[in-house]
Amino acid sequence: DRSAPVFARALAFGDRIALVDQHGSHTYKDLYCHSLRLSREVCQLLARPSGDLQEERVSFLCSNDVSYVVAQWASWMSGGVAVPLYRKHPQAELEYVIRDSRSAAVLAGQEHVELLGPVARRLGVPLLPLPPTVYGAAAEVPGEWGVPERDWRDRGAMIIYTSGTTGRPKGVLSTHHNVRAMVTGLVHKWAWTKDDVILHVLPLHHMHGVVNKLLCPLWVGATCVMLPEFKAELVSRAGNLCPTKTMEIFSRGCLRCACRLMVSGSAALPVPVLEKWQRVTGHTLLERYGMTEIGMALSNPLTGARVPGTPAATSPCAPSPWESSLGRVLPCWATKPSGGAALSSVFAGSVGTPLPGVEVRIVSENPKKDRCPYMLHADGNEMETRVTPGLAEKEGELLVRGPSVFREYWDKPEETRNAFTPDGWFRTGDTAVFKDGTYWIRGRTSVDIIKSGGYKVSALEVERLLMAHPSIADVAVIGVPDMTWGQRVAAVVALQEGHALSHRELKEWARGVLAPYAVPSELLLVEEVPRNQMGKVNKRDLVRRFYPSEPG
Ligand code: ATP
Ligand code: MG
Repeated sequence: DRSAPVFARALAFGDRIALVDQHGSHTYKDLYCHSLRLSREVCQLLARPSGDLQEERVSFLCSNDVSYVVAQWASWMSGGVAVPLYRKHPQAELEYVIRDSRSAAVLAGQEHVELLGPVARRLGVPLLPLPPTVYGAAAEVPGEWGVPERDWRDRGAMIIYTSGTTGRPKGVLSTHHNVRAMVTGLVHKWAWTKDDVILHVLPLHHMHGVVNKLLCPLWVGATCVMLPEFKAELVSRAGNLCPTKTMEIFSRGCLRCACRLMVSGSAALPVPVLEKWQRVTGHTLLERYGMTEIGMALSNPLTGARVPGTPAATSPCAPSPWESSLGRVLPCWATKPSGGAALSSVFAGSVGTPLPGVEVRIVSENPKKDRCPYMLHADGNEMETRVTPGLAEKEGELLVRGPSVFREYWDKPEETRNAFTPDGWFRTGDTAVFKDGTYWIRGRTSVDIIKSGGYKVSALEVERLLMAHPSIADVAVIGVPDMTWGQRVAAVVALQEGHALSHRELKEWARGVLAPYAVPSELLLVEEVPRNQMGKVNKRDLVRRFYPSEPG
């Protein structure tokens, strides 16, 4: 059934181990049965004994363990929309999400009842503590129980809040069909199989943690090892939690051969991080591009070159020949761009090609000037690339269309309307370029594309290059107002401990790797570059901090 929701496949995997956490191992059947029981309780709580919520939102706060999946699936089975809360959010943030989503009920894992109780009481929302039994093996559910037949396709499945990088987080409502498309696209692109074991240490209130790392493995019958949080010693001990060969190897520290895939995304991957990761693990991180609104849209290939210029890996498991290829991985800072060369010639930030089913298109600021309106990647295994002559290497806003694109911003009809073109393309607000057979993300159009004297500078690319400076611990590049040039490039820098850096030194160094108009004309030193929980910088706030009189 092509419209069945993700959990419907669980019963077919029966006694396979779906999840391993601090409480033990859980089979697919355990997940299904616990969820079904809980869905009955949710329906009873909301006085719907027949078991059919009408997209009422069900918020839940759980640790990274079996209870999370049970709460999510129970919300779905009862016909509700799952709204995951984050246990590290302060009470005010939890309250914002519960109130904004107008949740009808809140579910809480045992250890979160105390935190959530006062919030739920304040908002007058019923709170249902998860029964302690969900952490153990599930008893059979009575035969007459089942999930009601429904038209799942366009029914809301979840509201995930955006990272709040550019403003207050927006609730993004995706349907079951959207979620399914996200999952199947990634399963194909990253070649998930039932023999995979994934180590999950990410927060479970964002796409990457929910879809890429949890629903994908559960879709194929694989095993997800969940740790309560990321701690290096826990990660290396993970082998003790999971009786599979892969994880045993992992526990011996043989990262080089044990892992078949290591992924980076959500924000630009700094070159020195990519490089260090290669040195430590022997793996080339696979960079992908996605958004809460669309799931993952673009990804580097599983096999083959991930960054133009690198030799293709023969198999995804093979340790990458990083030592010999380092010079070629990053021609951007191994070679000096010729004076005045466009920064798009810099090789960094490639995010690959679209996932199956995803169509992408790049439009410039003035589409009327485009002789050819777009380039398109068609759906399917054989990726057909139709690059319109004359448009390749033109940069502009990235638009996305396809079954994974969300239904609406929750309770924000106007924002939803504005987010789409009249012919149904979602405007990502990010600038991209297609070049050398791959897409490159140049940053958020509103803040990362700095317009200085007729040049367009990508803040992300300047950041990537500056991160290679030995004295720089962290950097955010911003465009600040300039009487002559409109904007100029400024670098907000946190220094490595014990280091000093003058603007003159930075400029001299940067001239070696950057086009002249991209060399920061201002150095703003800070103790720490302010980042949100997803590690992203609100650049408007940053500009306002240094230029308070600017409207922003
Ligand atoms: P908000 O929408 O609330 O301002 P946000 O856009 O940061 O927050 P997310 O949906 O979590 O919320 O993030 C999507 C954004 O992350 C994209 O629009 C893009 O700017 C950025 N992003 C994701 N992957 C990459 C990547 N590989 N390289 C550069 N940027 C990326
Ligand atoms: Mg966004």
